[in-house]
Amino acid sequence: MSPWWTEPTGTLQERAQVVVVGSGAAGSFVALTLAEAGLDVILLEEGFSPTRRPATMREAMQRVYAEGSFRTTMASAPMMPVVGGRGLGGSTLVNSALCFRTPPATLDEWNELSAAVSPGGVFADTGAYFAVQDQVETLMRVGPTPDALLSGNDKVQKQAARKLGWSEFNARRNTPGCSGCGRCHLVCPHGGKNSVDREVLPRAVAAGARVFAGCRVEGLKEGLVSGSLVDELGRTTGSFTVRAEHIVLSAGAISTPRILHDAGLVDPDGEVGRGLCVQPVHSILAMLPDTQVFAPGATQGHVVDEFVDDKMIFETNPTLPAMVVNLPLVGRELTEVLANGHRIANTGGLIRDESRGRVRGSFNGVARISYDLGEADMKRVCRVLQRGARLWFEGADASWVGLVLHGGRLGRSMAEVEAMTPQDLSPHKLISYASHPQASCSVGRATDGAGQLLDLPGISCIDASSLPNNVGRNPQISVMTVARILSLRLAERLGGRPLPLLAEPV
Ligand SMILES: Cc1cc2nc3c(=O)[nH]c(=O)nc-3n(C[C@H](O)[C@H](O)[C@H](O)COP(=O)(O)OP(=O)(O)OC[C@H]3O[C@@H](n4cnc5c(N)ncnc54)[C@H](O)[C@@H]3O)c2cc1C
Ligand code: SF4
Repeated sequence: MSPWWTEPTGTLQERAQVVVVGSGAAGSFVALTLAEAGLDVILLEEGFSPTRRPATMREAMQRVYAEGSFRTTMASAPMMPVVGGRGLGGSTLVNSALCFRTPPATLDEWNELSAAVSPGGVFADTGAYFAVQDQVETLMRVGPTPDALLSGNDKVQKQAARKLGWSEFNARRNTPGCSGCGRCHLVCPHGGKNSVDREVLPRAVAAGARVFAGCRVEGLKEGLVSGSLVDELGRTTGSFTVRAEHIVLSAGAISTPRILHDAGLVDPDGEVGRGLCVQPVHSILAMLPDTQVFAPGATQGHVVDEFVDDKMIFETNPTLPAMVVNLPLVGRELTEVLANGHRIANTGGLIRDESRGRVRGSFNGVARISYDLGEADMKRVCRVLQRGARLWFEGADASWVGLVLHGGRLGRSMAEVEAMTPQDLSPHKLISYASHPQASCSVGRATDGAGQLLDLPGISCIDASSLPNNVGRNPQISVMTVARILSLRLAERLGGRPLPLLAEPV
C-alpha cells in the first residue's frame, strides 16, 4: 500500500486553496475539517513519518523533537526546556497520551477573554464546544488506563493518595492498544497510541488533503509559503514554494509566532507571541520501602487532582538518572541510593501558571522564548514541592524526599520540607520542565473566532497558540477541540460546504 503522505525531493512547487503548516494535534484536525468541507488543502510538515521509529532516546531527540530537543527559554528565570514533537503527528507522536476535558470554568474564562472579537466569547455556545469535544475523544479513542497497565510508580502514587484520602484517578489516555511499555516519549513502538498520524491524518487524506513531509516553512507572505526540503536531521536537501488563497499556521505555540515574527509580518511589540503559558512541571522524588517502583506500565498512568482548585495536579513522572545524581548525596550514601534505584518514586507537580512569556522569532535557527516565573507561581511551586513531599512521606513512608532543584535538596522529614519557604527558592534554583506551551496567538487578542489574524486575515493561527489562556491540564484534547471549532468556521468563510461536527460517524 502506498503511503498517504509524500516526501518531496529537489524542488517542489504547488498550489492549493489552503495550505496548513504543521501536522500535530491541531494541524491534523484543521486539514481534516477543511478537506471535508471540500476545500483543496495542502499540509506541510517539517518532520517525517513515525514509521521510521527512533530506537534510542538520543535518536528520538535528533529526529522527532523540535530543535533536536534543545528548545529552551532564554535569558529567563528559570531557564527551562520547552519540548515539542516534530513529525507527521507533531507532539502527539511523543506525548504521554494523557487526556483531559476542558474544565467548564476554564471555558467560561476563555469566553470572557475572547469577548472582544465575538459577543459572549468565541466559545459562547458551550454545549456545541463540549459536543465537539465528545467527538474528538471518540475519534482519539480515549479511555481510562486499566489497573493492569499501571506502572509500579503509578501504583505507589495511587496507594499513597488513597491513604491520604486525596482525590485521584487512573489517567484517561488515547491508547487503545497500549501494552504498558512506558516508552511513549520515543514514539509508541507497538502502535498502541492513537496519535493523530494513525486515524486523523489518513482521514484528512481520504477527504482529499495532500500531505507533504520534510517541508520546513521558512518564508511567509500572504498567499505564499516557502522553505527548505529537509532530511530527518533537519539538513537542507531542496526547496519548495506553495501558493494558496489562505494560509493556516498550526506549527504549535512556539513555532507559529516564530514564523510570523521571522517573516516580519507582525508588529514586534504586538499580540503575536505574547501571553505564552507553559505549565511548568517540577519533580519530587522519594526513596520508598522495598517496592518495585520501576515495574513497567503506562508512561504516566496516574493523576492526583486533590489540589486542582489551587491550580496544580500531580502526575506520575519517569525518573531520569540525572535527577538522582543531582541530589546532594555523595560517597557510600549515593552508591546505596543508586543500588536501590528501583525504590525511587517520582511525581511531577504541574501548575496552571499565571506568569506569561513571549516568543519573538528566532536567532540562528533557535526560537527566542522568554518566560519568567512570577511571585504567585513561585509560591505555588513551593506548595507543589511540599504537597508532593507529603504524598511520599505520609502516604508511602518515604525515608527521604528529593526535590529536583539545581544542586538538589533532600528532605529527611516533612517538617524539614515544610520549613522551606518561597524565599528559600529562587526561580534560578528551579529545574523546571515544560511541554505544554499555549496561548501565544490567542483568539480574542491576536486572532478572531476563525483563527484569522486580526491584522492579516489571509493568515490564520490555529493550534495550541490559539487558546485564550492555559488549560491547567495536559492540553491535547482542548487543542484538538479548539482546532476543530475554529476550522469549521474558517471553512465556511472560505466557501467550503457546511459540515456537521464530524462529517462521517466515528
Ligand atoms: C513530550 C511531550 C509530552 C506531552 N504529553 C502530553 C499528554 O500526555 N497529554 C496532553 O494532553 N498533552 C501532552 N503534550 C502536549 C500536547 O501534545 C500538545 O499540547 C499538542 O500536541 C499541541 O498541538 P499543536 O498542534 O499546537 O502542536 P504540535 O502537536 O506540536 O504540532 C506542531 C507541528 O508543526 C510542525 N512545525 C513546526 N514548525 C514548522 C515549520 N516551520 N514548518 C513545517 N512544520 C513545522 C512540527 O514539526 C510539529 O509536527 C505533550 C507534549 C510533549 C512534547
Ligand atoms: S506505554 Fe508503550 S505501548 Fe502504551 S502507548 Fe505508550 S509507548 Fe505505546
